Amino acid sequence: MTSQSRAIVANAPGGPEVLAVRDVPVPEAGPGELLVRVAAIGVNFIETYQRDGTYNVPFPFTPGAEAAGTVAAVGPGVEEFSVGDHVATAEGRGCYAEYAIFPAEKALPVPSSLPLDIAAALPLQGMTAHYLMNSTYHVEPGQTVLLHAGAGGVGLLLTQMLKEREARVITTVSTDEKEELSRVAGADDVLRYDGFAEAVRELTDGDGVDVVYDGVGKDTFEGSLASLRIRGTLVLFGGASGQVPPFDLQRLNAAGSLFVTRPTLGHYLRNPQERRWRSADVFNAAAAGKLTARIGARFPLAEAGAAHAALQSRQTTGKVILVP
Ligand code: NDP
Repeated sequence: MTSQSRAIVANAPGGPEVLAVRDVPVPEAGPGELLVRVAAIGVNFIETYQRDGTYNVPFPFTPGAEAAGTVAAVGPGVEEFSVGDHVATAEGRGCYAEYAIFPAEKALPVPSSLPLDIAAALPLQGMTAHYLMNSTYHVEPGQTVLLHAGAGGVGLLLTQMLKEREARVITTVSTDEKEELSRVAGADDVLRYDGFAEAVRELTDGDGVDVVYDGVGKDTFEGSLASLRIRGTLVLFGGASGQVPPFDLQRLNAAGSLFVTRPTLGHYLRNPQERRWRSADVFNAAAAGKLTARIGARFPLAEAGAAHAALQSRQTTGKVILVP
């Protein structure tokens, strides 16, 4: 194996242009770790927040928590994986690279029938969709859900999983192309953002929805609250349009004894059993053809900055991946 490889490194926070490709030493697998030859890397919104300084990370910084590939070396104490195994993770570090370290306890075995690019596209957004609908708020058959950015990475997966649950799914999207994708994923009603809360009231005979899944944040938060039924739940899981400003809790009383929560994936992967439950549900559904991961864009590793720019400018649909 070579001792040098390529990785994306940002020396300081900034725009997409701070993501530069560099020659770096191949990392070494420490105790309990796997060294993985990366086949495909999942790009996620959180990496844009880390890159621009919204979330604090140490610089120089190599982004990337999600990837799939082939085990190249196992560190001391690792028994459940061997060189040559196909693995994926949503909790790796420095995955924007040809070689990355996966903690073995957070590595997910990839079913042999699943191509590695699909395995890289599923873990983070798939397990997010899984915890949002099973654990943050348990959606029951027949309930009505409003889901923003219905043609996005989380959006397309969560829509399919909610339809499998026999929920009614209302989505928002910004373009005709995205509307079509959201409908193909199973959305019952697809709205534009302008006036969506009023449209939701009309679609629900004035009642509002049981739960809103809002990863858009700043631009949709008020409308999301206004779309809920009495005692409904707003799950704010991201801020693609910006973070939601401070909020007066007293408003929840007047608006209908509402619930608001702001979850994050790490708190829903608390132990190996929870991780195995979510990842097996997602991978098995994909392997059985019940869940489709749409790869909307592929960029070479060196163009990680262009991938971030595309994600942030709303041009993308489904999953964005990097290929080393
Ligand atoms: P998406 O593929 O959904 O991309 C974001 C989408 O948000 C865009 O395509 C766009 O769809 C919509 N959007 C609305 N307003 C804006 C705006 N001003 N700028 C950019 N996009 C906008 O991304 P992901 O599926 O990767 O993530 C979706 C959200 O979920 C993100 O906020 C992310 O941070 C969050 N997330 C949270 C997790 C958690 O555990 N809390 C885990 C994973 C993701 P359209 O054009 O149709 O409006």
